[in-house]
Amino acid sequence: MTNTATVDIDWKNLGFSYIRTDLRYVAHWKDGAWDQGTLTADNKVHISEGSTALHYGQQCFEGLKAYRCQDGSINLFRPDQNAARMHRSCARLLMPAVPTEMFIEACRQVVLANERFIPPYGTGGALYLRPYVIGVGDNIGVRSAPEFLFSVFCTPVGAYFKGGLAPSNFIVSQYDRAAPNGTGAAKVGGNYAASLLPGQEAKQRSFADCIYLDPETHTKIEEVGAANFFAITRDGRFVTPKSPSILESITKYSLLDIARDRLGLQVEEGDVYIDQLDQFTEAGACGTAAVITPIGGIQNGETFHQFPSGDTVGPVTRRLYDELIGIQFGDRPAPDGWIVKVK
Ligand SMILES: *Cc1c(COP(=O)(O)O)cnc(C)c1O
Repeated sequence: MTNTATVDIDWKNLGFSYIRTDLRYVAHWKDGAWDQGTLTADNKVHISEGSTALHYGQQCFEGLKAYRCQDGSINLFRPDQNAARMHRSCARLLMPAVPTEMFIEACRQVVLANERFIPPYGTGGALYLRPYVIGVGDNIGVRSAPEFLFSVFCTPVGAYFKGGLAPSNFIVSQYDRAAPNGTGAAKVGGNYAASLLPGQEAKQRSFADCIYLDPETHTKIEEVGAANFFAITRDGRFVTPKSPSILESITKYSLLDIARDRLGLQVEEGDVYIDQLDQFTEAGACGTAAVITPIGGIQNGETFHQFPSGDTVGPVTRRLYDELIGIQFGDRPAPDGWIVKVK
């Protein structure tokens, strides 16, 4: 079933955009259970016009990558963490959980069925997997859907922010992406719909994206568009915000472990006040898509704060990055359970 013909892709210049691949996994939930799930060549989803996913935002998603290693094998990075987070997102939106085993097996099948789309080792690219659950079926009232669809598709990707490890500038948004007791901690489309306008305004002003402050007091950094925030203090601590309305990044928690266990840094989750940026020598945005994007400076109202690392990547950020992608591409030993071999 797997097509093995080579694909005509300029691997070194891949950005973050949709490329149609051969097969995707689709499973349906009805009457209390998921069906077997199958791979299909059809990249269109056929659902009822009354689907809750279309009207009431009943949907969630995940993002993870498959990496081609130097020895030809294929790595998934912490897919159990994505499955667990999707359980939490589904619970918040009253959707049925996809069992962890089914989630990982779907990812494995999609990677193997689209192996020819995995960027070769050394190009820096990876195969991005997009699992999602949506409420479907005939419905009109505000209630949870009668049926659900779980799918995983994939697309080869390169860098998310164009600069790669070159620092980008960000701007503090006047909008909120989530409410104090809302859905900020769930990976749901509604948070993203709310972020489109602020994101566009940031880009029109030549910033890579915006930074959101805590929705309650607007004094603390929450996160960076679709990535989490971290910084390195002058005395060498790794610091990252803690808040119930942040989407907890798996990349961020991996970096925190790497900073503590491999770089020997003190690590701290807590309040990061926007008016105390001068305690930091380096800052970065992290996530599966962004990997690590160093932050050169932050525009906050009329003031622009430039980090001392300036327009080069800081030394700690560089070491965190090398260690993280080393683990992901199989070049450095991984902590227990972080790598799942697909092949
Ligand atoms: C997915 C996501 C992240 C990054 O999470 P990772 O698990 O590291 O990919 C950060 N912020 C938001 C809002 C996200 O949706």
